Amino acid sequence: MITVGVLALQGAFYEHIQLLKKAANILSQSENGSSAQWQFIEVRTKAQLDSCDALVLPGGESTTISLVAASSDLLEPLRDFVKLHRRPTWGTCAGLILLAESANRTKKGGQELIGGIDVRVNRNHFGRQAESFQAPLELPFLPPSDPSPFNGVFIRAPVVEKILPSQEGIQIAESRRDETVVAPSRAAAEQAVEVLAKLPGRTARLVAKTGVNIDAEKEAEDIIAVKQGNVFGTSFHPELTDDPRIHLWWLRQVQDAVKQTRESG
Ligand code: GLN
Repeated sequence: MITVGVLALQGAFYEHIQLLKKAANILSQSENGSSAQWQFIEVRTKAQLDSCDALVLPGGESTTISLVAASSDLLEPLRDFVKLHRRPTWGTCAGLILLAESANRTKKGGQELIGGIDVRVNRNHFGRQAESFQAPLELPFLPPSDPSPFNGVFIRAPVVEKILPSQEGIQIAESRRDETVVAPSRAAAEQAVEVLAKLPGRTARLVAKTGVNIDAEKEAEDIIAVKQGNVFGTSFHPELTDDPRIHLWWLRQVQDAVKQTRESG
């Protein structure tokens, strides 16, 4: 049995669970019953988190999620889950912000992050709620069997504006000075940040629309999906569509990662 938790403090957790269930059904049919058994749970406590093999951080409002996580004593357990144990974790929109090592402040201020992906995100990159949009996305990481574009739902969405030099080893050492058990192999095995998908940038889109060339180079493309080892983030909200392709892709990643962990002891 593989237990996947969805952090259920605020935001679109219910929608994630529905799509995860749909994806797990497709997986079990496509693999003729050889795929894992899955259970999907809402996570609001440390005990629930401890029972999870993998975790989704939904879209919503990252400041609110971090405040509620802090007041529920979940911030440190979440950091351990993602950064220390490197369990498979996926953050969408606000979830991606929380998984970034660095985020800009907004007018309303900053907030605690969980971290886990060595990137800096720009919150609300595309503007306010009224500037929310949907765009057909090419997602090269999805299997080519269904090449139709994925409907990207961007709501006050962040983008990855910078990939930071890998800090994993340093941060683990610093945050866990008292716990030298942190397997160096885990940090050493940590992979670089992979850029999985991009969207033509704001400026580039404006140029395409108006034909006026204003510094198009500067913002040629926005990074909207990244992965570093087991930790994955998307700027947009697949959970607000009924397309299970990314959930299915991610469950396959989780299945492989859990298998590896269990085999290695
Ligand atoms: N911009 C929001 C934040 O800072 C995230 C928006 C979303 O998840 N739809 O949390």
